[in-house]
Amino acid sequence: MTDAPRRTVYLDHGASSWPKPPGVVEAVASAIADSGANPGRGAYAMGLAASRLIFEARRDAAGLLGVSDSADLAFLSGCTEGCNLMLKGVLRPGDRVVVSSVEHNAITRPLHVLEQRGVRVEVVDAGEHGVVDADRMEAVVRAEATRAVVCQHASNVTGAIQPIGDLADIAHSAGALLLVDGAQAAGHLPVDLGSLGADAWATSGHKGLLGPQGVGLLYLAPGLDVEELTQGGTGGSSSDEPGQPNARPERYEAGTPNTPGIAGLGAAVRYVAAHADELRAEERRLARRLHEGLLAIDGVRVLGPEPGELRVPIVSAVPGGIDPDRVAFELDRRYGIAVRAGLHCSPATHRTLGTLETGALRFGVGYGVTEADIDFALAAIAEILA
Ligand code: PMP
Repeated sequence: MTDAPRRTVYLDHGASSWPKPPGVVEAVASAIADSGANPGRGAYAMGLAASRLIFEARRDAAGLLGVSDSADLAFLSGCTEGCNLMLKGVLRPGDRVVVSSVEHNAITRPLHVLEQRGVRVEVVDAGEHGVVDADRMEAVVRAEATRAVVCQHASNVTGAIQPIGDLADIAHSAGALLLVDGAQAAGHLPVDLGSLGADAWATSGHKGLLGPQGVGLLYLAPGLDVEELTQGGTGGSSSDEPGQPNARPERYEAGTPNTPGIAGLGAAVRYVAAHADELRAEERRLARRLHEGLLAIDGVRVLGPEPGELRVPIVSAVPGGIDPDRVAFELDRRYGIAVRAGLHCSPATHRTLGTLETGALRFGVGYGVTEADIDFALAAIAEILA
């Protein structure tokens, strides 16, 4: 086993997808080589070609995510920027916000800043499996006037899928907004933003959507007034106004966009849309195989929902008696297997699960992962732990 030819077995799709499906690298390269002008700024052929790449990417992302007016989708630098925008653009001093205890730092850190500015943050415990309990959230939401409920769509530590539809009903019946971190849901789950009930939903482009890094999407429900974080040039529209225009998506896209990244994301969402069922069925099958295989290794605890329960294809494990960092290091050094150990930018989740001291070893399954990769990883872990 240790003599196996070395290649990278990439099992860190929770952090970023790799490799990219056909067409993505080419679209990024072509945006730079063939359409490198500034989109929206020049009414000449190459500027128009760049604008067209962005138009098509927005249209196709909207199609994949069930958004009827693509202007409700803004291109940002990533999910982190989207989370900052939806929180800071909505919440004001004196507002009360109810949030789950299993959020990523992309949510908890902006909320920490807002708390210092006078927003009241109420955290609801998600229990030992990290699955948000809608009834528990409802009781806290109903206790006092609430401006927003904030929750992840799926966990980047446990893979748990949260009850977003129920939370939307709870939030709306209390006159609150539902703001969702969709980083781990996009691509891995069917997402229909037209019916989901989220008032804002942010995601990365480089995880389950299979696009390049440095680009993400923020959906804002029609009519929701969210203050922009950044003011600046908006591609020639309303240039003579002193303030940022209110029109979407320009309001949220000041400055020259990441055209190569957006073009790559456009190609990626077209690939995901064309292959969604087969991609999801395969990653789910492989994640379950991995989950069951880990449970069969002595002393290994797997976090989150049981095998067979619905999860996005992330599986985190705590190997008994050995530091997860050490296992990740050995997996890379001896076998060329890339996984992520530690707290996964979500100490809140690890605190909830009781794993703040150890962290965990996280496997992210996705595009390009094979059954042989899973079996190789399982055998490698068994060998390291033996
Ligand atoms: N939220 C969750 C649940 C995530 O997993 C991540 C990425 N680790 C983010 C937000 C932030 O995404 P990005 O780094 O692409 O901005």
